[in-house]
Amino acid sequence: MNLILLGAPGAGKGSQAVKLKEHYGIPHISTGDAFRSNISKGTEIGLYAKSFIDKGLLVPDDVVVGIVKARLEEADCANGFILDGFPRTVPQAEALDKITAVDCIIDFKVDRETVLKRLTGRRSCSCGGTFHVSKLKSEYCPVCGKKLYIRADDKPEVIEERLRVYKETTAPVAEYYREQGKLFEVDANLDIDKVYDIIVAKLG
Ligand SMILES: [Zn+2]
Repeated sequence: MNLILLGAPGAGKGSQAVKLKEHYGIPHISTGDAFRSNISKGTEIGLYAKSFIDKGLLVPDDVVVGIVKARLEEADCANGFILDGFPRTVPQAEALDKITAVDCIIDFKVDRETVLKRLTGRRSCSCGGTFHVSKLKSEYCPVCGKKLYIRADDKPEVIEERLRVYKETTAPVAEYYREQGKLFEVDANLDIDKVYDIIVAKLG
């Protein structure tokens, strides 16, 4: 099953991806993770992408498509994948259609207030864990014990810019898939378990 999770930053795509990955036995491909992996390895494409991310700007389509295409060619994607954070633009969606066929696009509809509340409270760990401050007892990771930090793109001024950019560039992507009859909208203001039940009921 080839799935795409579409929605603003903070819509809860990452949380659903973890659950869907387990349920369907297919990998969760976050372009954010793919970028960070390329950046930490210091690849040429990774450093080029970083120069845009650091300014809160979108990475050019050909760079994003190159990173995603290489990831989809890996062996664990043989039975499908969950793409999260891609495609973000219509040209990226068109490029993806040339790489593979997509079965369903889940569009996470979420209010700005919900996003701000979720993201400004997000704390990250170098082990990959992310937690909401309301559920933490200290500033240390409950999984591995390292000190938690606020990702540069989870700061309020950066969030506002990410939302603005998202709205401007990604709304046409939803339209693109709606016209293909593959778009499934879900109310992502609801809690995680409710959203998950709605998605699995739809996908079967
Ligand atoms: Zn940790």
